Amino acid sequence: MSKFSNFNFNGQKALIRVDFNVPLDAAYQITDDNRMRATIPTIKKILADGGSVILMSHLGRPKDGPSEKYSLKHLVHHLSELLGGIPVQFADDCIGTEAYNKAKALKPGEVLLLENLRFYKEEELGDKSFAEKLAHLGTVYVNDAFGTAHRAHASTAVIAQFFPADKKMFGLLMEAEVSSAEKIMHQAEKPFVAIIGGAKVSDKILIIENLLKRATDIIIGGGMAYTFMKAKGGSIGNSLCEDDRITTAKELLLAAEKQGVCIHLPGDSIIANKFAADAETSTSPSNNIPDGWMGLDIGPEACEQFTHIIHSAKTILWNGPMGVFEMPKFQHGTKAIAVAVAEATQKGAFSLVGGGDSVAAVNQFGFANKVSYVSTGGGAMLEYFEGKVLPGIAAINS
Ligand code: AMP
Repeated sequence: MSKFSNFNFNGQKALIRVDFNVPLDAAYQITDDNRMRATIPTIKKILADGGSVILMSHLGRPKDGPSEKYSLKHLVHHLSELLGGIPVQFADDCIGTEAYNKAKALKPGEVLLLENLRFYKEEELGDKSFAEKLAHLGTVYVNDAFGTAHRAHASTAVIAQFFPADKKMFGLLMEAEVSSAEKIMHQAEKPFVAIIGGAKVSDKILIIENLLKRATDIIIGGGMAYTFMKAKGGSIGNSLCEDDRITTAKELLLAAEKQGVCIHLPGDSIIANKFAADAETSTSPSNNIPDGWMGLDIGPEACEQFTHIIHSAKTILWNGPMGVFEMPKFQHGTKAIAVAVAEATQKGAFSLVGGGDSVAAVNQFGFANKVSYVSTGGGAMLEYFEGKVLPGIAAINS
């Protein structure tokens, strides 16, 4: 594996796997271009070196081959703007004669975007001969798609075997993602506080199990906190609860105790009489919520309790919101945590925010540049912290 920043791309045709899976509205306008922006420095460095760039990505989940809805051609104009006006060529197919000829004719400084990889079922199947056809398009392979690093797809992992060790590497975005994640996993300075929230315990069991080996404190908020509350014998009214996970929650609490890790649950909650933005609200101890009411955010006491713990941290990992932050009445807890993480970061802690909804919350509240790193990969980040080997990383490293 080569190091991207040390590699001279002069005269090379860099085949870059990017994550351009951006949301489009009904008129095919991009509604959030963060994923495209995130990979622009990688593209610019290659072009500045005198190389050319061939971009490949998926968009959405096309079921039956090519379709207008999932065509990457809708991104061409905006990509050209993000690159400062450089024309972006487009190939209607990611493999085949047109793609091959356009890639072959690329001159230094030129950019080609290939059509959606997932128009071929071979992409997600990790088909070797499809990966080989893609590999023929470039002289160097760059993986800059952290968002799909947990998938063993043709373009994210299988393709790497068709490039020699010195002609495959992570792009700048992927390098930053991997080094931030590794810092938390392998070099976390203590106290290491993990903040886990979101709706479901079932989605977060593996990450909590893995964090028990590393963290000093684990703060649990969001809907999943109520399954833990019930496991401890509390009354949680109509709050979200996964009854089939109560035993697991009990086991996690016991394991934490044995390993000397403090699990913190919210002392109080903002409760509501219905799951709606205009619900009637009140504050209640989280372990004594009346029937007919549900906890939709952590309460003021919990905000103070969690802020105090976060302020003591030297390392912070945050995945998942503390409440239903999409509704103004229930976003205070998530905001308070964002403030606390920003303050701890300012005092010198290393903080990583990862996972779709906490990232959305941090962006929504304007805290993205007040934490050390905001990950672009939801599922990939989660699997990394579950302790799994990500195929996209392994394929480059091996
Ligand atoms: P996840 O995708 O598991 O990280 O969950 C994120 C979702 O959890 C967000 O859409 C939140 O609205 C939701 N959520 C957070 N807290 C609660 C809660 N107390 N009750 C119901 N849903 C919640």
